[in-house]
Amino acid sequence: MPLWGGIELGGTNIVCAYSEHPMAPLIDGKNRYEFRTTEDPNQCMAEISQFFRKAPQKLKSIGIASFGPLNYDAGEIGTTPKKGWKNFPIVSMFKQLISCAQVALETDVNAAALAESVYGAGRGTEHLVYATIGTGIAAGIISNGQLLRGSVHPELGHIGVQLHATDLKSGFKGCCKYHAGNNFICLEGLASGEAIKRRWNWTLFDEDSPHWKEAWEIEAYYLAQLVLMLTYAFCPNRIILGGGVIQNQPHLIDAVYTVYKDLLGGYFNYPYVTKRREDILVLPQLGDNSGVIGALQLAYLKVNTIS
Ligand SMILES: [Zn+2]
Repeated sequence: MPLWGGIELGGTNIVCAYSEHPMAPLIDGKNRYEFRTTEDPNQCMAEISQFFRKAPQKLKSIGIASFGPLNYDAGEIGTTPKKGWKNFPIVSMFKQLISCAQVALETDVNAAALAESVYGAGRGTEHLVYATIGTGIAAGIISNGQLLRGSVHPELGHIGVQLHATDLKSGFKGCCKYHAGNNFICLEGLASGEAIKRRWNWTLFDEDSPHWKEAWEIEAYYLAQLVLMLTYAFCPNRIILGGGVIQNQPHLIDAVYTVYKDLLGGYFNYPYVTKRREDILVLPQLGDNSGVIGALQLAYLKVNTIS
């Protein structure tokens, strides 16, 4: 049996695994290693390659699920604010350090979307979106069973949204350093975990806050606009909402759905929108392992896809 290698390169932690099946990290947790991401990519590379050297046989291919932005053509991390990682040639480094010729690179959210589509909450659907609402906001799109890319990866966290009346009144401009002008404020700036903390001046999510109920009403309003846009743009069969904010506030799923149905206004009556909430707007099923499972699946597809 061939052995696949997967690396989830996150801003905080790195998870590596090797296995004969992409789901192995979730099933038995064996051959999985996690450590903190440091500012020195060479140090992280050394630790990763040390782990893979313990594999019982040579890896057939490696999949990397990385924080973005990514330069796919060059096989590099893009213009990240993370010190030391900017323009880091991650693909060639792995080829060299682990002596593996087949290396696939994808964004972490795209890899998680792939994992959920094959093994998780998206099983059985050809058209799927996985959106993560955490410190930032991102989404991976699977269309006709394939990850959707343009010249680079989509950046759906930065779409513009209609302001909620409370933000309009208070003048809250969001927290995105690129899109916080008078005429354009993006979704990430208004609905990410960071935005919620800044709007209410919460250090952590403060359950004693008198604004608790209002905070989630506002959040649902913005996320409903994301779901509406995804529906109109990509016609998915299912949308999975994951990430830290949703994980801690799962009640948001129903609230988002209610606002979304209202915003649809009865337009676009294709089968997806007439289904039950449970069939179309769901929580992820692979939890914290979706990134590394997606990375292993990328490794598998790297040598098993006829293109
Ligand atoms: Zn933005």
